[in-house]
Amino acid sequence: MSAPAPTQSLFRQLPQLGQLMDTPELAPLCQQFSRELVADTLRALLAHLRDEIARDVHTDLTLRAELATLLPTLTAQLEARTTPSLRRVLNATGTLLQTNLGRAPLSQAAIARIAETARGYANLEMDLATGERSRRDVHAGSLILDLIALRKALPAQTFRQSRAAIVVNNCAAATILALNTLAEGGEVLVSRGELVEIGGGFRVPDILRKSGAILREVGTTNRTRVADYASAITPNTRLILRVHQSNFRIEGFTERPTLDQLLDLSRTSSIPVFEDQGTGCVIPLPTGDNDANWLDSAASSAALVACSGDKLFGGPQCGILVGDRAVVQQLRANPLFRALRVDKLTYAALEATLLAYLTGNESTIPVLAMLQTPAEAIRTRCEALAQALSANFLHAEAVPTQSVIGGGTTPGATLPSFAVALRHPTLGATSLAAHLRTLNPPVVARISERAVLLDLRTIAPEDDSLLLAILTRAFSPQPEPPQR
Ligand SMILES: *Cc1c(COP(=O)(O)O)cnc(C)c1O
Repeated sequence: MSAPAPTQSLFRQLPQLGQLMDTPELAPLCQQFSRELVADTLRALLAHLRDEIARDVHTDLTLRAELATLLPTLTAQLEARTTPSLRRVLNATGTLLQTNLGRAPLSQAAIARIAETARGYANLEMDLATGERSRRDVHAGSLILDLIALRKALPAQTFRQSRAAIVVNNCAAATILALNTLAEGGEVLVSRGELVEIGGGFRVPDILRKSGAILREVGTTNRTRVADYASAITPNTRLILRVHQSNFRIEGFTERPTLDQLLDLSRTSSIPVFEDQGTGCVIPLPTGDNDANWLDSAASSAALVACSGDKLFGGPQCGILVGDRAVVQQLRANPLFRALRVDKLTYAALEATLLAYLTGNESTIPVLAMLQTPAEAIRTRCEALAQALSANFLHAEAVPTQSVIGGGTTPGATLPSFAVALRHPTLGATSLAAHLRTLNPPVVARISERAVLLDLRTIAPEDDSLLLAILTRAFSPQPEPPQR
């Protein structure tokens, strides 16, 4: 079927890709973005126009307009295609640990150690004293043990003789490695109240099955007693698993054995206890959530304790396993350990984070600094930002709010905080929040009572001026109108 004559003439106005590629105007773009990328982008642009003509979208006038702006359109598309998809964002949600936003920001010291280690070579697996090959897992191990011992007022040397620590990719990897090493082919006792999904598809029953262990459920969803574990022990029982209730809370008629009670059972039954503790929390939480404390678990006699490095620990993504020396030796010997090991950059950032704790400089760890910022300090910053924004095309006021820790640490616990509540004369809260995510860097906010809330607890104070600058640019009295 042939198109009507006017359409044919529109088609004829479209330049050929080959001709365009040889025009001098494209030379700088080819230089900057490569000839292949420019040609590919241009081909798609021309195909799009061809498609629009076929669908009768264009008149002679509109097509001419498109062709006149072909070069800027091409440049914009090339810039978009070469912008990294992973970008920095400003987290104004007030949620300290958001898996969606990359969890813990790193300390300056950790960033510096990553840069230094990444730039050249490192003694990742070399003992510099002998020049011989060594193991990479020696790097953070003794600092982890020192941290636990010193915080618990235990003599570090003695503690190090009986315990050991290794690092893997994340806490999920730590859990798989632990279950596979200690319970493959055998039964693992887990309370029905702990057969949970942590998030991102981490489901305790699935992880257990994949590790080759057999799940043996004990107790009920709301109440499980030590006696339930004791009566479930058979000759095939290999492990007691305790999972921190990271992202949910059971209220009402509930009961759950403490770790110490399970350790008592472990002593009498000789069944080891593995706790998937998750949070990596070293400090007492202002929310008073004691079960979130990793230090207590890590200093206990549990055969193994796993936690994330990038939750309340405030370091890089990794999973930290602490436990009985002989048990950790078994983990090291498991071929899975090789597949789950971390790279030199993770060790670099983890060691810097551990050193901050060890030397009493933990306020340099961003998550801990945010956690401990008093609400009044946040109020002062919110009032200053609201004041500075009042010259703009936005209504801004400081309002009290609640921050949450998040990231699978302490369900339901909140911290009193302040936020700047933004209202736009024409955009609703959802559209305004969506517009904030188009800024550079994108600002991620929360919506409450038809306003967009910017909780400054999760914005570093040194970024307040950046936040003000990008909001001012977007909403100054003579702006380009925001795209809906
Ligand atoms: C967060 C969490 C995990 C998963 O940790 P990742 O580091 O994300 O793999 C596992 N178990 C518990 C109890 C957790 O809180």
